Amino acid sequence: MEPSQAPDIFRTSLFNPQEFTITFELVPGRGSGGKRLEGILSFAEEAKKDGRIKALSITDNPGGHPALAPTSLGIEIQSMGLEPLIHFSLKDKNRNMAESQLFECHRHGLLNLLVLGGDYPRHGFHGQAMPVFDLDSPQLLRLIDRLRQTPPLGGNVPGCVMPLPSMDFLAGCVVSPFKTMQSEQIFQYAKLLTKVCSGAHFVISQLGFDMAKYQELLFFCRQHTITLPLLASVFIPSMKVAEIMCQGQVPGILFPESLMRLMQEEATSPDKGEEARLLRGARMVAALKHMGYAGVHLGGNNLTFSKIAFLLDQAESIAATANMEEIRHQVNFPTPSTWYMFPESGQQRDTPHKPSALFRINQQIHDSAFLPTGLIFPLAKKISLKVDHNKQARRLYTFCEHLIKTLFFHCRMCGDCTLAESSYLCPQSGCPKRMINGPCGGSLHGFCEVYPQERLCFWVRVYHNNPAGHLGSLSHCPPLPPKDWSLQGSSSWINYFAGRDHNKLLSDPQ
Ligand code: SF4
Repeated sequence: MEPSQAPDIFRTSLFNPQEFTITFELVPGRGSGGKRLEGILSFAEEAKKDGRIKALSITDNPGGHPALAPTSLGIEIQSMGLEPLIHFSLKDKNRNMAESQLFECHRHGLLNLLVLGGDYPRHGFHGQAMPVFDLDSPQLLRLIDRLRQTPPLGGNVPGCVMPLPSMDFLAGCVVSPFKTMQSEQIFQYAKLLTKVCSGAHFVISQLGFDMAKYQELLFFCRQHTITLPLLASVFIPSMKVAEIMCQGQVPGILFPESLMRLMQEEATSPDKGEEARLLRGARMVAALKHMGYAGVHLGGNNLTFSKIAFLLDQAESIAATANMEEIRHQVNFPTPSTWYMFPESGQQRDTPHKPSALFRINQQIHDSAFLPTGLIFPLAKKISLKVDHNKQARRLYTFCEHLIKTLFFHCRMCGDCTLAESSYLCPQSGCPKRMINGPCGGSLHGFCEVYPQERLCFWVRVYHNNPAGHLGSLSHCPPLPPKDWSLQGSSSWINYFAGRDHNKLLSDPQ
């Protein structure tokens, strides 16, 4: 739903169907000043004079490395009369820090947010930083949605009963249509539905180079009546960055070898292929506008504003004069053996398998013990509630649960079991980011961002366990709430029957 108040350049453009919204991504580096930052600020000054870019987005510790906080640069950019779009990632902050930073953003009038999980934290001071991921993106969108309303936030914290003034954030989310496997792609779209139902106001795609996949995302949104503004990412890489992406070293980025070969040929020209890269970007912008996107999110490295102005000029003239089918063909770089959801956008491959035998056994045991209609439900409930009142019995019961679930599910005793929501695989031990509402965007060819070529993405395994079930019920709304850390180490079976786990929270939204 469109946010209610305070029209500004970005939101006005975004919700005006006659306008094609252009944003550009800035990437501050490590440190509080220096040439890189000066370059960013001079880009912003020129963008302000030009007026075609409606918001400058600012990344939040991209690649999992420490960098200047986006709010700091956002305040400077805002003082120049431009709209900042603050990337708000969850890899480095727990829920309280997230809420605190939302207050900070609101205090400074930084109301445009792009909510994302973020890349897995990498090296920092004395080694690799701790991955936090206390919330995932749908859960943060829910929190932002709560802050947009006036009721008190609830929870056992001082001041929780006091209504907060409404905070009119404009919150976007991201989605990747550029997954090569059905098992990867299905959950990306499922999570998009979850993000939309959690309160996202606009959507930005992952960067890619397969035009049929850009088209597929539009088809999917239309099929699921997602009417939010949808921006397509258009990335103009330097040769060096293209090589890094092509080697699969950037999480979630699929860089086609056919494009890499073309760029290597272009690099033999006197300008080292720069104009060709900008023209390709211009053709992509024109093709995506023609396809029906509400705008584009531009990005790239070593780009001055004059280069972007050249790209935008070219895109306008291409859109006015060229044969768009031909243009689309020129910028289409599909990856062989990719799965496509719709026959219109490409070829459909991969066929769903049947649920695994293990899945069916687990489901039968689960349903009989934990569904009110289950055979042993009354007995399981009675025993669980009884031992809950006796310390010694509770300890023994918890120990037995720990033994069984560690043996069969690599359980981490979080105390709030979501095995049934992920095909009886444990996200606490199976996913390095502990994603419970669907995958992050970092997988590549089905492999986990954190263990490339080594471990399949947890959600790919979830899909393989029960493919038919996930194809049939894509929508996952509302999202599972975040873990209550006070339950860590306790019995999830008792917590379920005593109404302390997420099943209670789902029916009692805070
Ligand atoms: S298992 Fe999947 S969802 Fe989890 S971190 Fe790896 S790629 Fe992301």
